[in-house]
Amino acid sequence: MNLILDGHSYKYELESLANMFFHDQKVRVVAQKEMCEGECIYTRSASLPDGKVELQVATRMDGILREETFQGVPDEKDPERFCEYHLCRMLYTQLTEATGILLAWGMLTGVRPVRLIYRYRERGMDDAQIREHLNRDYFVSDEKIDLLLRTANKEKGILDLSRPESFSLYISIPFCPSRCNYCSFVSHSIERAKKLIPEYVTLLIREIQYVAPIVKGLGLRLETVYFGGGTPTAISSDQLEAIIRAIEENFDLSHLREYTVEAGRPDTITIQKLEMLKRRGVTRISINPQTMNDAVLEQIGRRHTTAQTIEAFEMARKAGHQNINMDLIAGLTGDSLESFCRTIDQVIGIGPENITLHTLSVKRSSRLGQHAKEFYLQEHQRVTDMLSYAGQRFQQEAYLPYYLYRQKNTMENLENVGYCKEGMEGYYNVYIMDETHSIIALGAGGVSKLRKPGGTLLHRIFNYKYPYEYIERFETVLQRKNEIARFYEEP
Ligand code: SF4
Repeated sequence: MNLILDGHSYKYELESLANMFFHDQKVRVVAQKEMCEGECIYTRSASLPDGKVELQVATRMDGILREETFQGVPDEKDPERFCEYHLCRMLYTQLTEATGILLAWGMLTGVRPVRLIYRYRERGMDDAQIREHLNRDYFVSDEKIDLLLRTANKEKGILDLSRPESFSLYISIPFCPSRCNYCSFVSHSIERAKKLIPEYVTLLIREIQYVAPIVKGLGLRLETVYFGGGTPTAISSDQLEAIIRAIEENFDLSHLREYTVEAGRPDTITIQKLEMLKRRGVTRISINPQTMNDAVLEQIGRRHTTAQTIEAFEMARKAGHQNINMDLIAGLTGDSLESFCRTIDQVIGIGPENITLHTLSVKRSSRLGQHAKEFYLQEHQRVTDMLSYAGQRFQQEAYLPYYLYRQKNTMENLENVGYCKEGMEGYYNVYIMDETHSIIALGAGGVSKLRKPGGTLLHRIFNYKYPYEYIERFETVLQRKNEIARFYEEP
């Protein structure tokens, strides 16, 4: 689908909005002075003599031409925003009509819609005004507005805990027992990459030893540690313990609020690993079933069963873990609404302190990408219903939403939400999403995001993606970490 820009450059928002309606085809942005003959979207902005602008959107789809023109005087403070908003509004209305798709998030395209709530509150708007504004001006559904307000109420307290010198540490273990068919992370199945693990662990420890004195010299304060991947428990208990010990020995953990290890796949969890994690001071773990339906698990390429999930959870409790997260996914291949609802009920019955609900991400790079259109149309309503059911059940069972983000190319750009029992929030999740403070990421695929106290500028340092690259070019990995000191020391 061609998106024509005539007389303006509001590419980003218009393209993002159009993309939410076209999962089967790429939206291609072209700059030209007229509408084309075939199917396309045409957008135009022109100045008029009396300080007004004329904005126009026309769409031709399935042989039907829709057209709307708007004239107005732009807000002096932000004329660009005025034009962009009205173009997006006209485009949204036309695409909704043309496709029959009503988006629960309306015109909002951003990944962090909770930020809007903070912004509106800073401007003095109360909740009723925010509701009206989002509903009337952005077409956001009541259900999503409610979710946003509740999330903002919880999340704000966590954001306020972060201090100017705070930072969090991310440790990447990019190995998994097998590859799930919806996965687009950089992870290597153990079968293929097993031989790399010992050297990987040795070098990761060296990276820890190299970075710790740098952050100490800068006077930074470690707030949270998060082991992610991949599946951190895919490596042996001894290897995992060696990494945890290196963190203990090299970083000051006296201010630590949270220590999370994403155990992840139930088939990698053993009582030995769970006891070791507890003994070494890990405060929060994640056991991720994704679904409690064995047939769906098989279809998505996860080689574990629901029985193993329950067993892993019981073992974790036995080992003394009192803050357990479980990740679930709405929209998995072959999962029906009924089966999803059973999963939700079953997980609530198990009683983890945190439940994180993701919406399946259909990325062009994943194996499912080519079937995206068919998949999208079939699942559209079903996934919306899944999220509604989960939201209601979590509310009934006193699971509160505390962080929320939207991922591009998820169905309808729907949301991923962390729910928790009162006082059991996962802080790291909030800090990484909000980019509240620096996240220093170690290991293959780790992307450090540096933010100076009080600053808005983000500086990224990339580690090599794949374990073999990380190993082969490890000296460059270390050299790049010198950017941490340079970044903080620059005026
Ligand atoms: S467990 Fe996670 S990281 Fe590993 S293959 Fe599955 S989706 Fe990807």
